[in-house]
Amino acid sequence: MTRTVAILGATGSVGQSTLDLIERDRERFNVLALTARRDVAGLAAAARRVGARRAVIADESLFDALKDALAGTDTEAAAGHEAIVEAAASGADWTMAAIVGCAGLRPVMAALRQGKTVALANKEALVSAGDVMTQAASESGATLLPVDSEHNAIFQCFDRARPQAVRRVILTASGGPFRGRSLEEMRGVTPAQAVAHPNWSMGAKISVDSATLMNKGLELIEAFHLFPLSAEAFDVVVHPQSVIHSLVEYVDGSFLAQLGAPDMRIPIAHTLAWPERMETPCERLDLVKVSRLDFEEPDLERFPGLALAKEALRAGGAKPAILNAANEVAVASFLDSRLAFLDIAKIARQALHHYDPPAPASLDDVLAIDAEARRRAQTLVGKFAI
Ligand code: NAD
Ligand code: MG
Repeated sequence: MTRTVAILGATGSVGQSTLDLIERDRERFNVLALTARRDVAGLAAAARRVGARRAVIADESLFDALKDALAGTDTEAAAGHEAIVEAAASGADWTMAAIVGCAGLRPVMAALRQGKTVALANKEALVSAGDVMTQAASESGATLLPVDSEHNAIFQCFDRARPQAVRRVILTASGGPFRGRSLEEMRGVTPAQAVAHPNWSMGAKISVDSATLMNKGLELIEAFHLFPLSAEAFDVVVHPQSVIHSLVEYVDGSFLAQLGAPDMRIPIAHTLAWPERMETPCERLDLVKVSRLDFEEPDLERFPGLALAKEALRAGGAKPAILNAANEVAVASFLDSRLAFLDIAKIARQALHHYDPPAPASLDDVLAIDAEARRRAQTLVGKFAI
């Protein structure tokens, strides 16, 4: 049976991995929509490969360029943020939410309101909108499947029929490229050094988040919204080999873990075939070659991003959205060489501590908090700028 699919953020790292799986089984999938921000050539090439019905570019000034790039195909071109939201509401059986940042929030919400299946990679949307998003999913009857490797691992190990039997969830963290570095050594690191992740190949923003450990912090908040446990039930352990993607501990002392090669096509395939399974071309884990698994405590002093996220998770309300927005602004400034690496967490901390709006009750509330937190973070970047 063919399934209709839409991929939001099709030109990114997760988007391309998703396309790779779909291209291997063209008969099984009918692509209704692909979206991207500015990469016209990448978007048009992907649309040609999978015969997409519609391709949408966020930047409206690129509409003509997209139309030209799609000449001779049956793919319809569209542009602008509203067109992306429309593509998200295409009614596809399965939608991949792989836009980076809170920019993906309105599209994800539109997809959830269709009441179909949404594979969620866009963690910033869930961190910012939390209950607003999970409530939209339960109202429409949508199925939210986690793509993030840790959350996908937890999803595979978590007995959803017996959440009271789960004692704890342990997210593993690779520790990123600066795991063994001192604060002094991290002071002058460049964007190129920060995005060179030891185990995973990913987009620039999440690579920087992995280097600061803010990624693991965002993932703690993400996990809290995906699995019905208290905030204290989620722990992080550093596991440099990235072989165990996360663990679920039960009351009887059993630990269930999901293992696999560090290739995002594995969790993506899990969501694409769910509740069935599908073949992937991914490297198989060779346990003898791996030979050992190491674990250590995360260092919250060298990596304050994780501590800030724990604080935002405990405080709840608007705090996770503020933390996320400030971090997005700070990371973008770091990638532009306008901010030092260690100042990313300083900006996140100041934004978190000095802005205290009421808890958001709607999507518009979340977007307003996000916009104001960004404005404040931009001002802070001006003060810290190198
Ligand atoms: P990426 O930067 O490689 O790709 C981002 C995609 O979003 C691109 O298609 C881009 O065109 C689009 N986009 C960016 N800004 C946009 C905007 N303002 N409007 C519309 N589209 C926009 O990022 P990625 O690494 O693929 O990550 C995507 C999401 O998945 C992130 O939330 C990330 O945290 C999450 N994630 C990624 C990985 C990974 O291995 N890359 C793993 C787990 C989770
Ligand atoms: Mg992850």
